[in-house]
Amino acid sequence: MKALVYTAPRQLEWQDWPNPRPGPGDAVVRVKSAAVCGSDVHGWLGHSRGRKPPLILGHEIEGEVVELDAPQSGFAPGARVTVYPLLGCDRCAYCESGRDYLCAQRKLLGMHMPGGFAELLQVPAKNLYALPAEVEPAHGALVEPLACGLHMAGLAAQERGAAVILGAGSIGLMCLLAARQMGFAKLAVLEVNPHRSAVALKLGAELAVSPRDPDHVQRLQDYSGADGYAAVFDAAGFTPTRQLALRLVRSAGLVVFAGLGEQETPLDCVEIVRREIRIAGSFAYNRSHFQKAVDWVASRRVDLSGWISEAKLADGQQVFEDLIDPAGTRIKVILRP
Ligand SMILES: [Zn+2]
Ligand SMILES: [Zn+2]
Repeated sequence: MKALVYTAPRQLEWQDWPNPRPGPGDAVVRVKSAAVCGSDVHGWLGHSRGRKPPLILGHEIEGEVVELDAPQSGFAPGARVTVYPLLGCDRCAYCESGRDYLCAQRKLLGMHMPGGFAELLQVPAKNLYALPAEVEPAHGALVEPLACGLHMAGLAAQERGAAVILGAGSIGLMCLLAARQMGFAKLAVLEVNPHRSAVALKLGAELAVSPRDPDHVQRLQDYSGADGYAAVFDAAGFTPTRQLALRLVRSAGLVVFAGLGEQETPLDCVEIVRREIRIAGSFAYNRSHFQKAVDWVASRRVDLSGWISEAKLADGQQVFEDLIDPAGTRIKVILRP
């Protein structure tokens, strides 16, 4: 098969790889589309500890089952599927409660094993999710990032009032789409790229502010009102956004950290204590978020048109270069083998 292989930092090559065969319990899926995640770009830049070349990246996948060694799975060749890309140990308390994303032994497709940027993919059949016919072509690859957004926004399901999302990349936008369905009275976005800000406004944010605007903090505070934001979602994860999150959140409000831009950030812990700010991390998604994301994509509950672009998998190197261009207009790219 052909595969887009990460061979060295900033380098992807279109190579021949051996065809995968299903082991016991596995399926082989013909990849129809695979979307590029921010973490793939991070890995391609050479910044990811877990992604070591040579490696086939990609964990946001839509495809068709071609071969199975899993008689009890309920799937047959020809089934249209998306792939839950995390593999837990199946024995620990997290795996047993459907939270294999927290398993200490978890593995990820496109990191610990070959991923979806290839013509074929080997995956345990229990990681397959059937895609209903209503799902638009290629949108099955967006189930995974939407599940991330559903998890993030869902952590704030009890909060009422204004919410702000820091960073309108694909995860920030998925969080925005999910938050919009949750009844926040006001939704604002902080984003440096004007194209992404425009998309956020189209998808339902009422205010988009650039961090380059010298008045951005004041403008965000004016919008929330004197109390501050009930929920702040940080989809960027850099020191300035994390520190800004604490300034914007109201007392007893919730800050959700999902961005992984930097490892360490000094935070004003006195402020956290005195104002009883709650901080939650949000990582990946559990299996119920994943199924809910399948349902939402199928019922077109979220707007996935207009901000998704497509490219040939063989042109992956150019796509990754476009994605790191700070003035670029690509947000989410679906690659097709
Ligand atoms: Zn991802
Ligand atoms: Zn486990």
